[in-house]
Amino acid sequence: MDFESLSGNTYYYDNQIGIAFPSNPLMKKLISANPRQMEVIAATEKNKEDLLFYSRFLEKLNLMGDPVICSISTSIVQGYNNKIRQRISRFVRKTTSFSKSIFSCINAGGSVPCNKTSIRAFLSPVVQHKERQVFVITMSDVFENVMELAKRRGFIWPTSECYGAVAGFIDYGPLGAMMKRRIENIWRDFYVIREGYYEIECPTIAQEAVFIASGHVAGFADKMCQCPHCKEYLRADHVAEGGGIPNASTMKNEELSAALATCKCLACEEVLGKVEVFGFNLMFRTSIGPGSQRVGYLRPETAQGMFVDFTRLLRFYRDKLPFGAVQIGKSYRNEISPRQGMIRLREFTQAEAEIFVHPDEKNRHPRFARYADYSMPLLTYVQQQKCEEAVTMTMQEAVEKGVIANQYLAYYVALTHEMLTTIGVKPERLRFRQHLPDERAHYATDCWDAEIRSDRFGWVETVGLADRTDYDLNAHGGASGTPMTVFIQYAEPKKVPRRRIVPNMGVLGKQYRDKAKAIFAALADAIPTKDGVDVDVNGEMIHIPPDLYEVKDEIVDIRGEDVVPHVVEPSYGIDRMCYAVLEQAYDEDTADGETRTVMRFAPCVAPVQVAVFPLMTRDGLDTIADGIARTLHKRGILAEYDDSGAIGRRYRRQDEIGTPFAVTVDYDTKENNTVTLRDRDSMKQVRVAIKDLPDIVTALVEGTKTFTELVL
Ligand SMILES: [Zn+2]
Repeated sequence: MDFESLSGNTYYYDNQIGIAFPSNPLMKKLISANPRQMEVIAATEKNKEDLLFYSRFLEKLNLMGDPVICSISTSIVQGYNNKIRQRISRFVRKTTSFSKSIFSCINAGGSVPCNKTSIRAFLSPVVQHKERQVFVITMSDVFENVMELAKRRGFIWPTSECYGAVAGFIDYGPLGAMMKRRIENIWRDFYVIREGYYEIECPTIAQEAVFIASGHVAGFADKMCQCPHCKEYLRADHVAEGGGIPNASTMKNEELSAALATCKCLACEEVLGKVEVFGFNLMFRTSIGPGSQRVGYLRPETAQGMFVDFTRLLRFYRDKLPFGAVQIGKSYRNEISPRQGMIRLREFTQAEAEIFVHPDEKNRHPRFARYADYSMPLLTYVQQQKCEEAVTMTMQEAVEKGVIANQYLAYYVALTHEMLTTIGVKPERLRFRQHLPDERAHYATDCWDAEIRSDRFGWVETVGLADRTDYDLNAHGGASGTPMTVFIQYAEPKKVPRRRIVPNMGVLGKQYRDKAKAIFAALADAIPTKDGVDVDVNGEMIHIPPDLYEVKDEIVDIRGEDVVPHVVEPSYGIDRMCYAVLEQAYDEDTADGETRTVMRFAPCVAPVQVAVFPLMTRDGLDTIADGIARTLHKRGILAEYDDSGAIGRRYRRQDEIGTPFAVTVDYDTKENNTVTLRDRDSMKQVRVAIKDLPDIVTALVEGTKTFTELVL
């Protein structure tokens, strides 16, 4: 069986398998096939309560004589307060002296909640069965290593740390902000430059009417309940899932409330009993202007700005479909209890494109040929329901077989794959998963998520691609009274018979005087009957007898019709992309007999693109190096000059922040005007002429040339 393909929270660890949540059917099968080889426990280390529970549990297992294998990663231990640290170290001492087969650990919660209740439910048969070996298995500690490096080197910082950070917010430090900007600009390359969809910028606060029309005021809520014992607010569906109740996320409030009666509180572990489940709106509410008269909301997505501006955009694109608009900016969601670092933020950056297309033209993307033969594994909802593997196919096949609803959606699925791999996401850690029918928004015809596999969080939804049909434009068109339609001209005008009223102006004018003009206008749209016509003139109904007009039957030309366009929406979570890039870039290898930490960023996203070192800060080497850095700056390359410390240390510092190339000025430079250019990944060096350096470095950073090609 291919373990890589198991969903969510499965991990390798010394050829053992760990899982954070036992509801995965494949995993269940696996465990039942090898009961003696693997039993799996997990706990989320992000929750101190869980950790305490966890250590107590392991102690208990030990006392019962089960061969528990345990070792707790030091970085986790360091991260907790003294009380827990002492408890764990005491525990580790005890267990390591106790059993010959003690091995690891602590697992992290994945995208599904992993809590005391779910772990207990899962463990009860294990604990009772003494003959079984209990393997407690951890994931590798990439997350801790990455976040430690990210903090220390200025990528990601906790927000307002000196006052105690608030969950759901992060700061991008100097290198993180630069990396994020590069990722955003690559996104712009794909959508603005290549696709020709211009970027707009709307305020992050919008008036209530916008979100009433969009449905956010009524429906953008998570299900919440309050523990009657400890008063903690809890995500109701997470509590239920933790209590082993399937499909909790799709249950109605009343169903969920009934199901929760036997579940335990995630915070205090008391059985909840009767609790009310209610919706908690995730939008941040504010007031516009003094006096709190006007309600406003921080936008929960950037998309609404593009919908609301539709008629302006339509004029801009000269009234022709298809066209698109994009926006990159902050959005806000007041998550109930975000515990997943950069993955679930209350303030986050989105990059969204709204592509407006004629409903009958969705299978005619003008540039589809570009991706027709692009192939990738697609995990359809049918395969998910049968627990089958993803199937690799081209976009052409996917559309023809009806796997992806239309060419437009398939085109942006492929474009997303290309974009994500460009910024450094490994193809084997990227999958496209179709929404299950009950997971999809009611108006959407088809939805796909680009999911990136994280060592810590399992498969993380990073990009959502949806065919939203005409839902948004109808909603805003209806609520605002501004029709959001496009006039589509027919190839040939259609001949349509029409009955028209031709009033006798002479008589009408005399009889109705100043109202005659309004009556005349109203008659144009009126439908005549035998007894005459009733017309509404400024609220007054006036009866016009048949002798005041003539009825003419004629054939008229209809040039076209008003159509509400459909919307195809790729929506990217920039922060999650940043996290994936950080996690996947992290690596350790050996250089000069020492462990080297290296961030293997794709050159196009590396914050610092090239480092320039003088071998010594004398004999003019520093002046030459400084000159080289300045020349590179003029080409728009971020070159960092560094002359402090031994050259090996300087390389290590740059490797650690992922600088892909380094230039060293040495004594040969003075002889022949050449420098060494070093590649971060291979640590190979090549001598190049100073005059060629700007072109070479530009080509390497832009990816039009590789270092290997340079060495040959
Ligand atoms: Zn409680």
